[in-house]
Amino acid sequence: NFPAEAVPQAPEDPLFGLMRAYKADQNPDKVDLGIGAYRDDNAKPWVLPVVKKADEILRNDPEANHEYLPIAGLASLTSKAAELLLGTGAPAIAEKRVASVQTISGTGAVHLGALFLARFYKVNGANRTLYLSNPTWANHHQIFTNVGIPIEQYPYFDKKTKGLDFEGMKASLANAPDRSIILLHACAHNPTGVDPTPEQWREIAELMKAKKHFPFFDTAYQGFASGDLDRDAGAIRYFVEQGFELVIAQSFAKNFGLYGERAGCFHFVAPPAPDAAEVTTRVASQLAILQRSEISNPPIYGARIASIVLNDKDLFAEWQENLRTMSGRIIAMRQALRSKLEELGTPGQWNHITDQIGMFSFTGLSEAQVQKIRSDFHIYMTKNGRISMAGLNTRNIEYVAKAIDRVVR
Ligand code: PMP
Repeated sequence: NFPAEAVPQAPEDPLFGLMRAYKADQNPDKVDLGIGAYRDDNAKPWVLPVVKKADEILRNDPEANHEYLPIAGLASLTSKAAELLLGTGAPAIAEKRVASVQTISGTGAVHLGALFLARFYKVNGANRTLYLSNPTWANHHQIFTNVGIPIEQYPYFDKKTKGLDFEGMKASLANAPDRSIILLHACAHNPTGVDPTPEQWREIAELMKAKKHFPFFDTAYQGFASGDLDRDAGAIRYFVEQGFELVIAQSFAKNFGLYGERAGCFHFVAPPAPDAAEVTTRVASQLAILQRSEISNPPIYGARIASIVLNDKDLFAEWQENLRTMSGRIIAMRQALRSKLEELGTPGQWNHITDQIGMFSFTGLSEAQVQKIRSDFHIYMTKNGRISMAGLNTRNIEYVAKAIDRVVR
């Protein structure tokens, strides 16, 4: 009976359904606040100037060809990618405690990590439960479920304060079985825009250490959140300094604007120990086997672009400038939206708009309000009330603020 009976119709991915509805809308005032990609003040995709330069260098490179990359990817990228996360001169790198593999962007990195843990991270022969923040990037659920890792959730977002439910999160981590896998967003939490403070990160680390939990960091917004690459890697660096064994999924989609090129890396970091380098070599050998059966070789173009920038002092400085442009515009839009809502006297508190960080903000709009703002004002956002700050610009901010004001009243 295959496939007629066995294959049911799957629901459409909600985010892509939203994009389709937005495209089909003919209203000239329509606003897309669903999109998970940076837009400039003209609501257009932005090719980073430094990426254009790297592209030019690549095009004039007589040595460039279309051969396969090695299974583990472009070494000049993966080594710099690890430095970007852990800091130049990080002991973990010097002591060869880091195994890095280039992946299909952040999604591929999360997947490779999931596959690796499903195969090797077992307690008493069984897969350990992985804890996701509630809410989290929806794809996390699918990726880990697909490889047979059981999922639980820890409280994260406090609906009342529209900030972190820190007590709830800590209680959940404390009650989880020892050696659980805890997925943590390194910065610019998607979808809430709510991050722990450095002090809260220290408490989380202490608690996780006591429980022997295993951290799985997902970092898709380094440099894009605060505009400062080091600051956005602060949580990861702290955990590594604390001697955790951990893994990191790293995306270059947002911070290089290389979305469709699928540039990213997966890293395993061993804790300091006499045999750490040997453990890391063994892990790398298994990652290579998994990678081989999944994708054989990672894609080359985006990797080369990122590598050119990361390996050149001047281009790196220019990249940092480009990151400040993107994060700066987003922070400015947060401030503008908040002050317009406060000017209008829109009922409720709006400080969370500027307290939250990164691409997304959890507005607190209800599902009914999200429906209304879409039907009455042609403003599109996910039904949980998440808006992409990148969809706001100087032309539409007034319109969006007034629309929010109307649906909230
Ligand atoms: N993790 C999180 C939390 C994300 O927000 C994203 C991007 N939406 C990703 C991973 C992966 O994205 P990509 O595969 O495009 O790098």
